[in-house]
Amino acid sequence: MVGTDQRIRPFLWRAERLYPDVEIVSRTDDAVHRYDYGTYGNRVARLANALAAADIGPGDRVASLCWNHHRHFETYFGVPCMGAQLHTINPNLPKSHVEYIVGDAEDDLLFVDPHERETLEALADSEAFESVQQYVVMGDEVPETSLDPVVDYESFLADHEPSYDWPDVDEDQPAGMCYTSGTTGKPKGVEYTQQMIWSYTMSTLTPQMLGITDADVVMPLVPMFHSTGWGFSWAATAAGAKQVYPGPSPDSADLTRLIEEEGVTLTAGVPTIWIDLLEYLETHDADISSLEQIVAGGAPVPESLIRRLDEEHGVEVLHAWGMTELTAIGTVAHLPPDIAAADAETRYTKRQKQGRIVPGLEFQVVGEDGDEVPWDDATVGELYVRGPSVTTEYYRCPEANAEDLTADPGGDRGGEGGEWLATGDLVTVDAEGYVTLVDRDNDIINSGGEWISSVELENAMMGHDTVSEATVVGVPHDRYQERPLGFVVTAEGATIDPDVLREELRERIRADYPKWWTPDEIRFVDEIPRTATGKFDKITLRDAYRDHDVETNLEPEE
Ligand code: AMP
Repeated sequence: MVGTDQRIRPFLWRAERLYPDVEIVSRTDDAVHRYDYGTYGNRVARLANALAAADIGPGDRVASLCWNHHRHFETYFGVPCMGAQLHTINPNLPKSHVEYIVGDAEDDLLFVDPHERETLEALADSEAFESVQQYVVMGDEVPETSLDPVVDYESFLADHEPSYDWPDVDEDQPAGMCYTSGTTGKPKGVEYTQQMIWSYTMSTLTPQMLGITDADVVMPLVPMFHSTGWGFSWAATAAGAKQVYPGPSPDSADLTRLIEEEGVTLTAGVPTIWIDLLEYLETHDADISSLEQIVAGGAPVPESLIRRLDEEHGVEVLHAWGMTELTAIGTVAHLPPDIAAADAETRYTKRQKQGRIVPGLEFQVVGEDGDEVPWDDATVGELYVRGPSVTTEYYRCPEANAEDLTADPGGDRGGEGGEWLATGDLVTVDAEGYVTLVDRDNDIINSGGEWISSVELENAMMGHDTVSEATVVGVPHDRYQERPLGFVVTAEGATIDPDVLREELRERIRADYPKWWTPDEIRFVDEIPRTATGKFDKITLRDAYRDHDVETNLEPEE
């Protein structure tokens, strides 16, 4: 005997009916916009009508290149509840990646923030964009643009009814989509079905995960294009919580103001944001006393950050680990009652770990011998995860299925795939089941929670005619957790001045990649160490430069 399918729509229905007056606040470029779940529901219905009028229906794919604001939040329900699929795209990606991703996903309609339109303008004539029928700019007027056909979001909604005859969407219907960085090659698409999002949302509400309730005021800072913004928009709606969207490029002053004025209790984002916020609070008088919890993850969270937020501001940091493939969060350093009652040092030690598996998922950590490692906090193995919110298939990418999905953790890969996801994260597990991430089995660089492909940087540098070899490794960094450090061997007989070459290499990289991909430091060496199989030995390099301080020239907002 089963009830209805597990789908997203009841979360919206409940918020509209039970919490019609609860607010949704959104910071815009120059003001703060606010409405309630009642009005929100009407606008979501108008959006569904507008999409239907634009010929979007079940099975179609609607993409967004947008930051965290109320209009983007409207697409989070409007698109999947009418049976279509919301494909969120990171506007910070290199243009070549956006081109590949839109072409691979064959998106039908694109929502774009006004200040992100330049990426699309540069690509709109390419073959990859042939499927795109319509551009909708998030705002109430169309800025000067070559995009065509184009309409602003408010005009798109304007003439449509505030109610929609919602279909009973099947739980296997794809509802969301997000591409994740390929470790060696092209980005890999992950699709989220209605059921994956439903089950992820339900576990988010459990106290062992995030325990969001209708007493919370939730401010999601995780970009809504990254791994479903860790699912906060759906979870906060399901709970009937007030939501606060920080809008485009919020700085610490904006965030502090929103916390103070809106009474934010729970917020979430990568460690870099909290490092900046702490620094800001040192020199500014601000009242963040409403804030109870910060969910921090996407990159390792330094213990000092957890300690300082607790001791100086009474804010509990919940360290979380997750992946695009898991819908979002997979482990949380939640403290069970016995550890919560332990001394402060024990608590900080546990809180700094990536955490315990969330309700509904299972994990195994498998050592080099193919067996599960003991839970001794010391033996390292690869983390495998499975569960209802974990993908079992990459979009049109059989190579990735064979490489990253398996029926047999620790067994031979490269086969048929399976339900266990090989995360590529190398971890230990302690006696209480807390996972600690010690390394990754790939070379991509995690700069403040976003990825930089070392392979692409190497190719760009090796394309210079005075370079014979180049490699890039990630080295620890206080603010960004990891930054790229480049190594170059110049070609025999090359007489170019090192500073000139450095600048030329940086220019080559900036021409094709975002500025934040550029290695802060490029070192000239006589040779790059190699492994027994002749590959660049990045492990040796990373170890040798573990304590090396790279000076980043990135501004806080980059
Ligand atoms: P993404 O799919 O882009 O969210 O990246 C997922 C990867 O980010 C994981 O496999 C980890 O390597 C890394 N990651 C996520 N959360 C954490 C964390 N709390 N600590 C360290 N690495 C993390």
